[in-house]
Amino acid sequence: MTHRDSGPAGSSGPGPTAAGEDRKAELAANLAVVEERIASACAAAGRKREEVTLIVVTKTYPASDVRFLHELGVRNVAENRDQDAAPKAAECADLDLRWHFVGQLQTNKVRSVASYADVVQSVDRLKLVTALSSAAVRAERELGCLIQVALDAEAGGRGDRGGVAPDGIAELAEAVDAAPGLRLGGLMTVAPLAGPFAGREQAAFRQLMEFSSGLRSGHPAANMVSAGMSADLEQAVAAGATHVRVGTAVLGVRPRLG
Ligand SMILES: *Cc1c(COP(=O)(O)O)cnc(C)c1O
Repeated sequence: MTHRDSGPAGSSGPGPTAAGEDRKAELAANLAVVEERIASACAAAGRKREEVTLIVVTKTYPASDVRFLHELGVRNVAENRDQDAAPKAAECADLDLRWHFVGQLQTNKVRSVASYADVVQSVDRLKLVTALSSAAVRAERELGCLIQVALDAEAGGRGDRGGVAPDGIAELAEAVDAAPGLRLGGLMTVAPLAGPFAGREQAAFRQLMEFSSGLRSGHPAANMVSAGMSADLEQAVAAGATHVRVGTAVLGVRPRLG
């Protein structure tokens, strides 16, 4: 693994370098733009800025970037692949960061994820609830869990990019609520690329808010609504999201993953 900010070969560790300072300045400038977008969207929606938490999605970027982001005031970061997230979280274990796991999660990765994640946003099936619960208990940690909703999935089904169909929310929520080691946090979605909500991000996020109201009537503490990414954070804030997950707009365009 290479580090953008590590010194020349033979130097002792990653001290501040010109390249590192450039990267930090770039991240600071990008963060300022994103902050301004969130603040404007809050103002336009008559919401307080504190109602929306920025989660920076650091997937594909090195631990050195996570460190810069922390220096710049970021406290919530997200990753979508355990293989990348586990070593990165270990390198940043000295920082007071909340790690959100937002990717499709296989049960064989659950033990690893439960060792560093504070919140798993992609809970979409009962098997995963059971596995997360035993891993959390074993690690003696409490894991926040969001139910990932696939707004374009058929009743009884799941989405192509993960998520449970809306008719499966209640059952999963009850399971999380009853599971030792897990805390039901709320709902998460990704705006659908297909189906009736394709190209209608704000309508999609409003729909998620309705499901959130339904959930909160039985589980008042499950008040997190995670929606909106670089391209559609304004629509998510307008609809009522409490958490936006922003990658590209802060860190830059990611190389395509195979
Ligand atoms: C990558 C990712 C994001 C961030 O997307 P950007 O378009 O880069 O802001 C948000 N949510 C999830 C689930 C992701 O996988």
